[in-house]
Amino acid sequence: MEYKKNDVLTVTIDDIGNDGEGIGKVDGFTLFVKDAVIGDTVLVKIMKAKKHYAYAKLEKVITPSPFRVEPKCAFHRQCGGCQIQAMSYERQLQFKQDKMKGNLLRIGKFEEALIDRIMEPIVGMEEAFHYRNKAQFPVGTDKNGKPIVGFYAGRTHTIIENNDCLLGVPENKVILETILDYMERGSVSAYQEETGEGLIRHILIRTGFASKQIMVCIVINGDRLPDGGFLPREEELISGLRKIAHMTSISVSINKERTNVIMGKTVHTLWGSDTITDSIRIREGEDFKETGREIRFKISPLSFYQVNPVQMEKLYSIALEYAGLTGKETVWDLYCGIGTISLFLAQKAKQVYGVEIVPQAIMDARENAKDNGISNVEFFVGKAEEVLPKMYEEKGVYADVIVVDPPRKGCDAVCLETMLRMKPERIVYVSCDSATLARDLRILCDGGYEIVRGRGVDQFGQTVHVESVACLQRVDM
Ligand code: SAH
Repeated sequence: MEYKKNDVLTVTIDDIGNDGEGIGKVDGFTLFVKDAVIGDTVLVKIMKAKKHYAYAKLEKVITPSPFRVEPKCAFHRQCGGCQIQAMSYERQLQFKQDKMKGNLLRIGKFEEALIDRIMEPIVGMEEAFHYRNKAQFPVGTDKNGKPIVGFYAGRTHTIIENNDCLLGVPENKVILETILDYMERGSVSAYQEETGEGLIRHILIRTGFASKQIMVCIVINGDRLPDGGFLPREEELISGLRKIAHMTSISVSINKERTNVIMGKTVHTLWGSDTITDSIRIREGEDFKETGREIRFKISPLSFYQVNPVQMEKLYSIALEYAGLTGKETVWDLYCGIGTISLFLAQKAKQVYGVEIVPQAIMDARENAKDNGISNVEFFVGKAEEVLPKMYEEKGVYADVIVVDPPRKGCDAVCLETMLRMKPERIVYVSCDSATLARDLRILCDGGYEIVRGRGVDQFGQTVHVESVACLQRVDM
């Protein structure tokens, strides 16, 4: 049976795709239905049909799945952010566990028995909303030219107005309202992607969950905020923002390029500190018990910092445990950002070396080490795939343990190959994309390692993303 565009049919959803969409079959014909939950029977309308499958739109839920819950956010279907908000949190975790396993099977070509043996249960969140310490809101205008902030409607660049995203902290709303009010009263324009004109592009807000400190960075398509003869002036905006409790840093970032990249390369502080401080408690053991020690971090607008600090502490404690340090080891931490994992590892290692591509992040990392009185770390700026081979070939550096935490695209082939040549006892792979993780684990296992432990940590409730950690041990042949 073949179906075509605009056909309406009933289907029972019995699987979930990688992007969280529901998948169901009618007479061997496969339907991908965004917003349908596994277990639902739904009425759908076909939007785009191929020979054996089609993408369909959810028209009506006929029989709701036992895993279906009432979404908290009114925009969840329009917004690209929370793909699985209509799914119960327990089922979300199961989906993520299955996703990691599926990728290890299909992409990594690992045996199911091995995967079942090494995979530990995913670590879930206690509060699956309001968990993000960072939010980036695009600024635009509504039909009447009034400035708005919101989010991009799934896979588009149309801004839908919403200044109260439920994944972020409640303070975001007041900050956004203050900036919008300043824009409206001072006729400060919003950036228009189509024409490249207009000033205010994005608003970045970061909050230290432990310190409560707040950072606001306004990304502008110009050199400065209007501060000329008319009111309200820049100072007025600043004084409005300063009234918000715990405001610590107000800055602008200059981005005059016509690009999708949000932040510009430079940041000017308008008021307060250049950075905010947050601290991470070191936790240990099966129940992530606090050890009483913590590490403080300075975070600047441009540096990477994990977005879910509560789960980050658990993630790092697993990485630390997998690293199996006794105090004698030399450890390389590749893709180290501002040195969060490096400083964790330094507690138990003899020496840690961190490598990171963003120079500002390395400057932060060095300062963080100093501020915490940690002296057994050294940081290098550069690409992991360039710094590591160079250090290995020219200086003959050595590693007992290598930790990697690459971006979604995974490790570069040269980086993996150098790791294999360096033959560390253990490799700890922290990953935010289980597909590239599976690909890279296959390369490492073909090169003389075996996976001994692996665990997912949910850092991104309501979304399809999952963070995972794997521990590889060298096989002595
Ligand atoms: N381990 C850190 C950061 C992980 S995010 C933490 O947990 O906070 C990945 C980091 O890799 C980012 O800071 C990014 O700037 C950096 N990066 C991306 N490509 C890189 C490369 N080729 N070499 C080194 N670092 C890279």
